[in-house]
Amino acid sequence: MYDEITNSIRVSVKPVYLEDQSSPDENHFVWAYQVRIENLSAGYGQAVVLHDVAPARWNGCIRVLRRLQALSRRHGVALPVTLLVVPCYHGVVATPPPYLWWLRRLARGGHELALHGWTHLDDGPAPRRWVERWLRRHYTAGEGEFAALDEGEARARLLEARAWAGEHGLAMRGFVPPAWLISRPGLDAVSNAGFDYTCTLSTLLALPGREALHAPAIVFSTRSGWRRMLSVWWNRWQGWRTRHAPVLRFDLHPDDADHPAVLRCWSRLLERALRERDPVCLSEAVARAREPGMHPATEGA
Ligand SMILES: [Zn+2]
Repeated sequence: MYDEITNSIRVSVKPVYLEDQSSPDENHFVWAYQVRIENLSAGYGQAVVLHDVAPARWNGCIRVLRRLQALSRRHGVALPVTLLVVPCYHGVVATPPPYLWWLRRLARGGHELALHGWTHLDDGPAPRRWVERWLRRHYTAGEGEFAALDEGEARARLLEARAWAGEHGLAMRGFVPPAWLISRPGLDAVSNAGFDYTCTLSTLLALPGREALHAPAIVFSTRSGWRRMLSVWWNRWQGWRTRHAPVLRFDLHPDDADHPAVLRCWSRLLERALRERDPVCLSEAVARAREPGMHPATEGA
């Protein structure tokens, strides 16, 4: 089977050798080809998500958005970005007015704002098992704020964040936990708070029904040289193996435009996605999770 996607059109060709019509002794071989042409433009989406939007990471966010604007212009398509906002990033509550104007301008310009925790710092109960300790202390460098919260604490932080957003006139329909780590009671709190959707590393969940859509993420770790190198290799493979995913996410961070190899890798993968998929923000993508036939997420989704 040969399979190629160009401009959202998938052409699959399956060759079949017709033994009864062939005469190998006379060097005569007959093949039939079954060709299937599918228009994927209505079915496949790609979403760009920018994490850790906060005054302390503002300059990095601007550098990533500039690159996205350049790609959008080059391909002549609108490229909506879902911006994951942290109201009190690492405990800093001050939000300069120009930063707030910038957020409102992006929201008016076709981008989407979603909530990404309150402080982005994991100060929940100490991890009990080594896997949990590795995930929370090392893999995420202690940033998985919602990883171990009980429902009451999660609800309190969501209320505080919602109040902050309301005070500044910022609408946020989705919630993506820092590092995609969220406890079961934390997820209940998000669902009960009336958010439309949330995400894990590979799934988009519609709320409150928790219908799950496969939406794997291209994501880089840039904390050290070896992490960047591994990330580039991993994402080249990830870009290939996720080519048939209904929604492909590019989960970018504010320093993802600062390392040439990383910047090159996600730019190339995104350019390919722009030729094959429809750009959507997460709130549009989640509508696909609600289509008939989608099932509630099971444990670990
Ligand atoms: Zn984050």
